[in-house]
Amino acid sequence: MTHIIRTISELRSVLHTERSHHKTIGFVPTMGALHEGHGALMTEARQNNDCVVVSIFVNPKQFAPHEDLDQYPRPIESDIAFLKKHHVNYLFLPSPDEIYPQGFATTISIKGSITQDLEATYRPHFFDGVATIVTKLLIAVSPDTAYFGEKDYQQLCVIQQMTMDLGLPTKIQSVPTIREASGLALSSRNRYLSSDQLKIAQKLNVILQDIAQNIGHGQSITSAINAGKDHLMEAGFTKIDYVSLRDSQTLSEISEPQPKTIEGRLLAAAYIDHIRLIDNIAVRF
Ligand code: AMP
Repeated sequence: MTHIIRTISELRSVLHTERSHHKTIGFVPTMGALHEGHGALMTEARQNNDCVVVSIFVNPKQFAPHEDLDQYPRPIESDIAFLKKHHVNYLFLPSPDEIYPQGFATTISIKGSITQDLEATYRPHFFDGVATIVTKLLIAVSPDTAYFGEKDYQQLCVIQQMTMDLGLPTKIQSVPTIREASGLALSSRNRYLSSDQLKIAQKLNVILQDIAQNIGHGQSITSAINAGKDHLMEAGFTKIDYVSLRDSQTLSEISEPQPKTIEGRLLAAAYIDHIRLIDNIAVRF
């Protein structure tokens, strides 16, 4: 049975009761349109906690005016069925006014190397929006552990940094990206893709794997990335925001081969027409 809770005060009250029975709380924040990527976070939370809380909130603060806030899918009935199937105890489903009441004036902003570029260049308000909502949710739920996907790798780094800086008493647990058989990372936005666009989208991970393999085999990083960008455009992508090799911990750019102790992360963002896809994979030297 999944209980639906719409206010922070009710959420606090039920979780206070759970805690008084010494229950551990696992939390999965989402924007809904749930798929097996979200499901993997819920499974991880279910296996490691007595009580699982999932939030569904399409956060207006992380969308720029030209982005897809109004069009973002909100299939709430099928989402609730999905939560029941994953044995989630509580769905926190607040209204925008519950989260951002009139007069709300606080922004959590991470200003460091992790937010210097990549997504931050192309979506300048995105991480402030994410950090503000995640902080508010972490304070409201106060979970033992919160689960985030590697699918949004830079976001995961931002949340780890913020949790550490603010001394929030929640452990941040990352979960590997869930993909369909082609390698395409599951995403709520994949449902926007036509069948032709889907075939193009399925090339993104394949091409990232090729770049990683070529770097692993000793090809120069710049030429491997440039060849990969050409392949993305040949495959049908219409615009590339970035394809970039980074240190997996600091996100600083890597342009020369590294010792085996350093793990690289290859991150990319590219468009098929107006649909923007992101992905990332580990790179070993
Ligand atoms: P979203 O609903 O897109 O905001 O995502 C909610 C959480 O699910 C975030 O921590 C995402 O990183 C994670 N997530 C989204 N897609 C996937 C996926 N394919 N595999 C693993 N985690 C994912």
